[in-house]
Amino acid sequence: MPYQTINPFNNQLIKEYQTHNDKQVEQALETAHQLYKSDWAQGEIKQRLKVLHKLSDLMSSRIDELAKVVSVEMGKLIEQSRAEVQICADIAKYYADNAEEFLKPVPYKSSLGEAWVEHSPIGVIMAVEPWNFPFYQLMRVLAPNLASGNSVLVKHASIVPHCAETFEKLVNEAGAPKGAYTNLFISQDQVSNIIDDDRVQGVALTGSEKAGAVVASRAAGKLKKSTLELGGNDIFAVLEDADIDHAAKVGAQARIANAGQVCTAAKRFIIHEKVADEFLKKFTQHFKDLKIGDPLDAKTTLGPLSSADALKTLTKQVKEAVKHGAKVHIGGEAVSDNPGNFYQATILTGITRDNPAYFEEFFGPVAQVYVVKNDEELVKLANDSNYGLGGALFTRDLNRARKLATIIETGMVYVNSLTDTAPELPFGGVKRSGFGRELSDLGIKEFVNQKLVVLA
Ligand code: NDP
Repeated sequence: MPYQTINPFNNQLIKEYQTHNDKQVEQALETAHQLYKSDWAQGEIKQRLKVLHKLSDLMSSRIDELAKVVSVEMGKLIEQSRAEVQICADIAKYYADNAEEFLKPVPYKSSLGEAWVEHSPIGVIMAVEPWNFPFYQLMRVLAPNLASGNSVLVKHASIVPHCAETFEKLVNEAGAPKGAYTNLFISQDQVSNIIDDDRVQGVALTGSEKAGAVVASRAAGKLKKSTLELGGNDIFAVLEDADIDHAAKVGAQARIANAGQVCTAAKRFIIHEKVADEFLKKFTQHFKDLKIGDPLDAKTTLGPLSSADALKTLTKQVKEAVKHGAKVHIGGEAVSDNPGNFYQATILTGITRDNPAYFEEFFGPVAQVYVVKNDEELVKLANDSNYGLGGALFTRDLNRARKLATIIETGMVYVNSLTDTAPELPFGGVKRSGFGRELSDLGIKEFVNQKLVVLA
């Protein structure tokens, strides 16, 4: 894939980027490896945390400029791009403030002697990242690994090279030495060769199941650890005692944010039959109120999809769903009078288990609505999915919510909120949504040597 910036609002090519050849990749790999062997990675953590503090300050002070890069390149609404830059600054600060505590030795009581587990870096980590949160996805990998002393090589998605380049410049400006973080404009084959290399000790990927399977099996073939953060088909369940106004409003945000291109977006709305009509009416109104337009215009509330390919895929999925019996409650078409990659805010009902849409992730502003009679039906439907990333439950009965949260098969459940993210909370899923966790204390432990030392 060529590395190109194409504005998804009008499909105009802005810039094409030169790719890295094998010699450049080898240089990047060796520099990253040598840095891991040096005092930078093996010595005092404080020098690395200083870089993260600086990176956080840099991003906070340039929110508007950085947000514009995101919005122009992948179509995110400018306010949401600002929020993305802010959370990146927060993640950098979070690890700068807490990594030392997370990585300090943990004592173990043992009959064999004085024992502890210490945490040391393991080497070069290869990260493969997607376009939907083009800075946040990079920061989730960079911050914990920079803190622990691992060197990071990144292959970002080919449709966000300006974000990739901008982020690398920021990390360098914050004072990271050469090799700590390297962006590579490379092919999928070059990624495979890097994974095979003995200097690489771990692989992290966020993206599709298909990419996850290729990258993780390559890593497994060389007996290397990987973490995968893949797709989701999250539920947004509304029980009969919920605040319906609130649930309808939050539900619309949860489906529409980032034009629906979020792995943890609400995708399957499961509504108790007693409140189904009321919920659907209010939810639909929020969709009708959306204003399609330029992501840089603060009045726009629904932006374009990230690429012409994404629009093609979503259009095909909805057509197939309808062919198999789904009903279009609202929307159901690409926006025809616009050169950008816009898709109408869409609600589908009447999806049965034999409809391919029942099991598919729709990466765009398309909601599926299901009606259930009781909690048993809700749980059955929720867990009848190959995915298991996040999920949201709306109810005033918190005991009932606790019980349901425990039996829903996902990596994250939020009650009376959309599925969210914060630096201090672990992020990740089960089933075909992947494995491993990012962010929080769990995220930093994924790629460290948890070494036991015993003084007998
Ligand atoms: P991909 O999984 O294709 O892309 C994500 C990243 O993986 C990109 O950097 C891509 O590079 C890279 N990649 C893809 N295949 C390989 C491979 N064989 N070896 C090495 N790297 C690879 O996602 P898409 O952009 O195509 O989106 C398709 C679907 O993926 C969405 O509909 C959604 O289901 C899911 N997705 C999930 C995301 C999440 O946040 N969990 C984010 C984005 C997508 P390149 O760009 O060069 O192809």
